[in-house]
Amino acid sequence: MNDLSADLSGQELLRSLQERQLALNAQNGALRSAQLALNTRREHYQHLFEYAPVAYLTLNADGLITEANVVAGELLGADPVKLLLQPFSNFVATEFADTPHLNGGSDSLKPHDYDIGVCRSDASSRHVQVNSIRSEDGTVRLTLTDITVRHQQEHDLRIAAIAFESQDGIFLTDENHRIIRVNRAFTRITGYSEQECIGQTPRLLRSDRHDDDFYALMQESIENTGGWSGEIWNKRQNGEVYPAHLTITADCSQNGLPGTYFATLVDITNSKLAEDEIRSLAFYDPLTQLPNRRLLLDRLQQALSGTVRSNKKGALLFIDLDNFKSLNDTLGHHVGDMLLQQVAERLRACVREDDTVARLGGDEFVVVLEGLSTQVVEAAAQTEIIGNKILTALNLPYLLGVHEHRSTPSIGITLFNEHDCGMEDLLKQADIAMYQAKKAGRNTWRFFDPKMQESINARVKLEAELRHALEQQQFQLFYQIQVDSMHRQLGAEALIRWIHPERGIIFPVEFIPLAEEIGLILPIGKWVLETAFAQLKAWQASELTRDLVLAVNVSAKQFREADFVAQVNSALHHYNIDPKLFKLELTESLLLDSLDDTIATMGELSAIGVKFSLDDFGTGYSSLQYLKQLPLDQLKIDQSFVRNVATDQSDKAIVRTVIAMAQSMNLNAIAEGVETEDQRQFLIENGCTHYQGYLFSKPVALEEFESLLKELPKITEGVPVGIFSS
Ligand code: C2E
Ligand code: MG
Ligand code: MG
Repeated sequence: MNDLSADLSGQELLRSLQERQLALNAQNGALRSAQLALNTRREHYQHLFEYAPVAYLTLNADGLITEANVVAGELLGADPVKLLLQPFSNFVATEFADTPHLNGGSDSLKPHDYDIGVCRSDASSRHVQVNSIRSEDGTVRLTLTDITVRHQQEHDLRIAAIAFESQDGIFLTDENHRIIRVNRAFTRITGYSEQECIGQTPRLLRSDRHDDDFYALMQESIENTGGWSGEIWNKRQNGEVYPAHLTITADCSQNGLPGTYFATLVDITNSKLAEDEIRSLAFYDPLTQLPNRRLLLDRLQQALSGTVRSNKKGALLFIDLDNFKSLNDTLGHHVGDMLLQQVAERLRACVREDDTVARLGGDEFVVVLEGLSTQVVEAAAQTEIIGNKILTALNLPYLLGVHEHRSTPSIGITLFNEHDCGMEDLLKQADIAMYQAKKAGRNTWRFFDPKMQESINARVKLEAELRHALEQQQFQLFYQIQVDSMHRQLGAEALIRWIHPERGIIFPVEFIPLAEEIGLILPIGKWVLETAFAQLKAWQASELTRDLVLAVNVSAKQFREADFVAQVNSALHHYNIDPKLFKLELTESLLLDSLDDTIATMGELSAIGVKFSLDDFGTGYSSLQYLKQLPLDQLKIDQSFVRNVATDQSDKAIVRTVIAMAQSMNLNAIAEGVETEDQRQFLIENGCTHYQGYLFSKPVALEEFESLLKELPKITEGVPVGIFSS
């Protein structure tokens, strides 16, 4: 039994052992498969970690990278293996170094989300969104998502938003030309709120200042070139029309549908005003608002080209107000200004809209007429009508403040397209014609005469030559003897001659008036004085000439020079001349203006000892009244009276009167232009004491004059009989 029982228990034990072995085997198999499953899963997760589309990093408690997946390597620009044990902070952009929870720096075990910038190992940067969580042992796990593109888009959007809310008005339209968005500036400029204009077309903004063609052209440009830009008159919500600069760009960025536009609108009211102001200042006369010279030239240029095209004549009228200066002088400039303004208005009313009325300055106006007949005669007749119309209009009385005033114009007219000439020439021609109108007694018009131009050209040439003559010292003094009734030499009159290299001797009548007009008489006069004094000085050396009195003609301009007395005085001293040998010949016309100044200057010179002769006496308007006030020594009877004195009864009477007048004032009388013995005889019989004229000698050059002197008796000598009579 025991054996049996022993066998039984052995078998049971074996069975149980086998069963246990089986169980153990089963357990091992399960364990292996669990292990296998675990390995598979780990590999899976490892794979997930390595190749997940987000970047994973694990940092240890010191912030060093202990794990990095492929995407993290790509994001940070380095092999993931090389990232290991590098401080994560090395990759954080400086401006994000203080970000909380970075490196898991917080004690909280909760996950955190934040954005930072990271610097890649190639120095470029990325924007990342970080999700971090810290474990209790200090390990931090990070997921990093690259949001660079989104970040950039947000940035761009922000800029776009700022730009959209700029100072310029902006509106966008959809493919149906409906406004879909506007900015605040748009509302400020147009007066329409967003609600009021969304869904409307830009027609809402139109003013009626442009016709349909204008908008058609705009549309055409947008279709052909993708945009339009320019100035436009728009209307605000309150009805006010204003100038704007509009730029329309077809928006091709979205769907390229026609009609989707982006438009900017700038209110240019202020710059337009400034521009208008500048334009007005540059081109218009501020007093009359008429075009100024600059604009006139511009219009004239257009008119000239216009007439060339159409062959129609044009006319230029140069209008100058007569005696305007005296109105200014008597009633003041503001009254003068009123007249100019009213004249401007009247002139404008005399011509058509298209014709130009301009103010050149002062009291000078210009009218340009265009589109006249192609026939000169007819065009002249048309212009005449306008000329008369202007005369009539400007002759009507003016009310200038409280003053009623009358004014007349002188008008010079020239036609154009008749002869080839430039604008300045036309103005010159009309100006010349205007002077002809003045000469003709004013308050009339005259057409330009080309002959006039010739004489002016000659004058211009003469002027240039005269200046040259002064530089080249082409002047010379001639001397004409003056004698007493017994033919004894008293002195001479110095008379200037211009010895022209080609034309020979030119007489003063040809150049002295011009020299006076252009002021050249001053240097010329100085030269005459200087030469005369030098001559007197030279004459002191010889007994034959030392007592000669030299008479010098002086022009009004020279005499009125502030330092004229000083000029004479210093020359007298410089040459050490006895002043009584020097005589100044003044003309009557010189006495007429500013008599007081003349008397004062004469007084100063007379005090020095200088003598005065009144030249051309009888031709002016001398009155006894003022003659008495002048320190004169001599009256010079003008040769026009002497010429016929032997035959003409009235000349006889005049000459007698002049001589008597001279005697009554204790002056001596000298007759000029004495050519015949009969004339001399009459003069002697009537008490004339001094003589000058061809009878004795023509004005001659110095050498000839000095040899002539040798033949003449000196004042102290007797008279050789028949010396001058032939
Ligand atoms: P004036 O001072 O009355 O000079 C007299 C003019 O009559 C001179 O003309 C002289 O040559 C001329 N004459 C003299 N005797 C006779 C005569 O018997 N018969 C005729 N038919 N004429 C005679 P000239 O030299 O041509 O001078 C003309 C004018 O030019 C002068 O008139 C004077 O006003 C001016 N003039 C001459 N030299 C000067 C000068 O140096 N300075 C200035 N400012 N004017 C001058
Ligand atoms: Mg004279
Ligand atoms: Mg004279």
